Amino acid sequence: MQVWKTINTAREAIHVGGADLRPLGLVPTMGALHEGHLALVREARSRCAAVIVSVFVNPTQFSPGEDFSRYPRPFDRDCELLENESVCAVFAPDPGEMYDGDATTTVQVSGLTDHLCGPFRPGHFNGVATIVTKLFNVLSPDAAFFGEKDFQQLQVVRRVVRDLNLPVDIVPCPTVRDADGVALSSRNAYLTPPQRVQARSLSAALFSAKNRIACGVSDVSVLIADMRRQILAAGPAQIEYLEIVDPDTLKPVVRADRPVRIALAVRIGACRLIDNVPAP
Ligand code: AMP
Repeated sequence: MQVWKTINTAREAIHVGGADLRPLGLVPTMGALHEGHLALVREARSRCAAVIVSVFVNPTQFSPGEDFSRYPRPFDRDCELLENESVCAVFAPDPGEMYDGDATTTVQVSGLTDHLCGPFRPGHFNGVATIVTKLFNVLSPDAAFFGEKDFQQLQVVRRVVRDLNLPVDIVPCPTVRDADGVALSSRNAYLTPPQRVQARSLSAALFSAKNRIACGVSDVSVLIADMRRQILAAGPAQIEYLEIVDPDTLKPVVRADRPVRIALAVRIGACRLIDNVPAP
């Protein structure tokens, strides 16, 4: 497995690899890899001749006061895990390699970013849309793999690809959960053991709302009030949002009488957790 630190090295290696690397799959990550990331890599392996994983803690998608500097960066361990998955190369540039200090161009997606995480993380999705576009331009993948765990991010990336005619197939992959239902996340490392137990209330609330929708309950205000109760009963938590949205526009719906996405962001201690499920 090769490790590419610069754009030139990556471009040169992909050029030399030529048709042998096609179709080429990309799994963009911020590292601190877990089974959720590895599921994306395995899906990419099953569809592509070669897989590149990018490991880049992207500064522009962190809002001021967020965890950019303390975000975990266990790079050697990440490389070991990826070596075992027969990844062709890891692209791990420094921030200075990806961003000129005086860059003034960004990719901005409006509408889709008005709800859910958008208002709570100003600039976040611009940062995501910009780095994903740059990674596609540098690595020229045929397909890129994204987790439904970050459902709004997935929809934003799909919109960028559609609106800018980028020749990349976006492949969604289901959320990987621990046995107790908690969605895997690099940020779970910030939770204390009791907080990790408390975090079960998030997926539990999502799945009980999903079940109730399947049983015909469609009043969103009732469903959200019950989720809120369930989460707060588990311990002190700061709910940023609990929303039931249209899966394509991400706009809140009043009645869950057609396919919807139930999504939440909740802070437990120092940790901001997001999760979502489709319903019915
Ligand atoms: P991150 O390193 O958190 O930026 O995530 C990189 C990619 O892995 C994104 O496409 C995420 O949606 C995906 N991902 C993160 N956690 C999970 C999970 N538990 N299940 C599936 N995909 C995930």
